Amino acid sequence: MNQHIHCIINNCHYWANGNKCEANEILVANDSFASKQQDSIDATMAKQLTPASADSCMSTCCKTFVHKNSDQISADSIYKMS
Ligand code: SF4
Repeated sequence: MNQHIHCIINNCHYWANGNKCEANEILVANDSFASKQQDSIDATMAKQLTPASADSCMSTCCKTFVHKNSDQISADSIYKMS
């Protein structure tokens, strides 16, 4: 599958011009789950995570987000493709 992830969060380490996400993989979660988990819980662990529901798009988030100036960019084993 050839997916394209579009994102407008331009202070994320994985964001690129043209509103593209260049993370090799991302994890979308509900806000409740994401707020309780440390940065290391991310897309590389997706198969081990329990599926959960969300009431609307407003209660979901990108768990892979990391600030572009953060020293935590390697905490989740996600890498930028370009
Ligand atoms: S990791 Fe998430 S927040 Fe960051 S650019 Fe990709 S989709 Fe956007």
